[in-house]
Amino acid sequence: MGATILIIEDNPANMELMAYLLRAFGHTVYTAYDGAAGIHMAYYGRPELIACDVHMPRMDGYEIVRRLKEDEALRRIPVVAVTALAMVGDKEKLLAAGFDGYIGKPIDPEQFVGEIEKYLPAGLRPKSASSLQASRPGSA
Ligand code: MN
Repeated sequence: MGATILIIEDNPANMELMAYLLRAFGHTVYTAYDGAAGIHMAYYGRPELIACDVHMPRMDGYEIVRRLKEDEALRRIPVVAVTALAMVGDKEKLLAAGFDGYIGKPIDPEQFVGEIEKYLPAGLRPKSASSLQASRPGSA
């Protein structure tokens, strides 16, 4: 069964790729191209997971996760940073800022959905990697 996932990302190509991959595996995807829209959609759409870019104009990912984790109604939603590999080197900084995990860019189409699904609440995670693999489009 699919989950509802919010992507906050300012780069259209990255957004398109992530949304395409998640939808291909049965997830419902909301998209927000900046932090203000993302927080709004988190509040009104109540996604089960948020994938969030770090480097964005106006409000960066650190500010977004700070605001989400400050909000009693939203703080339990896992927030995964999606950021350049160089910044994944700052993993302690990401985790200290409130992110629940991180995925490196460039996005690997073969790995991305599986990596995201690891952060879903337990009841929404696919049963096992092997059954997942068998049902994946294009995995053959
Ligand atoms: Mn960006």
